[in-house]
Amino acid sequence: MKIIKICVDDLLELKKPHPCGSKIFRALRIGSEIRVVCEGCGRDMVLPRPKLEKTIRRVMPRSIPSDGDKP
Ligand SMILES: [Zn+2]
Repeated sequence: MKIIKICVDDLLELKKPHPCGSKIFRALRIGSEIRVVCEGCGRDMVLPRPKLEKTIRRVMPRSIPSDGDKP
């Protein structure tokens, strides 16, 4: 089983779009329930972690580490 690591401020692309059309959500609070806010319309919602993980297509970390990765 694949474990999805989610951090606060990560952007999550979900399989199911929000009614507003956006599929990008930002994680606000991580716990047994995860609070996310829609990047399209700004509405937030709380989902149980297992339910949310099933609908995640991919996680895009908000802060990309650049140190120690020289060309
Ligand atoms: Zn929305």
